[in-house]
Amino acid sequence: MTKKLIEGFQQFRKETYENGSGLMPRLIKDGQSPEYFIISCIDSRSNPGTIFRAEPGTFFGHKAMGAIVRPYEKGTALAAALQFALIHNQVKDVIVLGHTGCGAIKCLVEKIDDDEISSFIDVAQKGLEQVRQTRPAGCSHDALLRMTEEQIVLLSVENLKTYPSVARAISENRVIIRPWIFDMESGNLLEYCTKKECFIPITELKS
Ligand SMILES: [Zn+2]
Repeated sequence: MTKKLIEGFQQFRKETYENGSGLMPRLIKDGQSPEYFIISCIDSRSNPGTIFRAEPGTFFGHKAMGAIVRPYEKGTALAAALQFALIHNQVKDVIVLGHTGCGAIKCLVEKIDDDEISSFIDVAQKGLEQVRQTRPAGCSHDALLRMTEEQIVLLSVENLKTYPSVARAISENRVIIRPWIFDMESGNLLEYCTKKECFIPITELKS
């Protein structure tokens, strides 16, 4: 049943231990110093390690349905991870990576009948309400889903700023928070542009 995983691991082992890249032995000897912290959805198609072709040592990762970040609460998995990344390590960019076709956002918009899931994703209701109030007349359901995906990434970024480790790193001018969306259909990576007030392909941004 786990054949695919074991075969994948054997390939990884060959590339990073046995074939002379020396990457893993080096990271073990020198330790890690990732520059990025990526908060992503649990969706198997938008895994940052895969879509960024990231080698070990590149980023710290945190996963949650819809890449939703709740407002700060002491003692959560995310609060501890951000503390470790920003206070005890030198992470320079925190990325909230949403994606199109997100099942979690669909559950939010279409009100899934599952208490366990809705008790987590309902924290993003505020974002959905903002979209409902500002959407153009005659907006299709698919467009509503897309706008909500974007709004939830922005809401998560705002919530991130309530974490003491993030607030401190921002005040010391040593971290950038980046709202990103992986557009799975078109194969594009988008970042929110504050000037244009919309998500645009990362290739059109200057930095
Ligand atoms: Zn998702």
